[in-house]
Amino acid sequence: MLHYHTLPVTAFQQNCSLVWCDQSKDAAVIDPGGELETIEWEIERLGLNLKAIWLTHGHIDHAGGVAELAARQPLDIIGPHEGDRFWIDGLPQQGEMFGFPPAQSFEPTRWLHDGDTVRVGQETLHVRHTPGHTPGHVVFHAPQIDRCFVGDVLFAGSIGRTDFPQGNHQQLIDSIVQRLWPMGDQTVFVPGHGPESSFGRERKTNPYVGNT
Ligand SMILES: [Zn+2]
Ligand SMILES: [Zn+2]
Repeated sequence: MLHYHTLPVTAFQQNCSLVWCDQSKDAAVIDPGGELETIEWEIERLGLNLKAIWLTHGHIDHAGGVAELAARQPLDIIGPHEGDRFWIDGLPQQGEMFGFPPAQSFEPTRWLHDGDTVRVGQETLHVRHTPGHTPGHVVFHAPQIDRCFVGDVLFAGSIGRTDFPQGNHQQLIDSIVQRLWPMGDQTVFVPGHGPESSFGRERKTNPYVGNT
């Protein structure tokens, strides 16, 4: 069985999620943007063995803590798609621009592609490439619990910004309609910021992607 626990980190209240397999207690952390002590305390409290970092995209609030966390213990850094290399290479500058603690860039162990899978213990999640907010953005779909970790693609009542370099509004809409909606209306998503919602609810009520 797959479990998860979400904790908002950084001044941007970014939803960092721990996901784990309850048989092995092996865990991955999705988007450790910062506040590593909080994340590590939670891992300790839950009795998890952290094995990997999974990334939805290269923005500082999602990836700012990766280099430091991976320096403290041996961890695979998985994702995002290589289209976000320029964001990861630019993490030190992103940190200065947004007033974050100093952040280092890093080289992922593995870049992800559309259709890839990632494993934690006995559990498998599916990767979709969802460009638009950033060119290398990916999401992690866990059909066994009807959950999807969508980063900054979609929010309850809103969608991701597309005014950054290589952002693209139409591409973001296409990613949502063609790659998220097929996961099913019942799928609950964990966005990069703010509360969870379901794809069905957003299809009905989200002003940016309603009736799509
Ligand atoms: Zn972002
Ligand atoms: Zn964000």
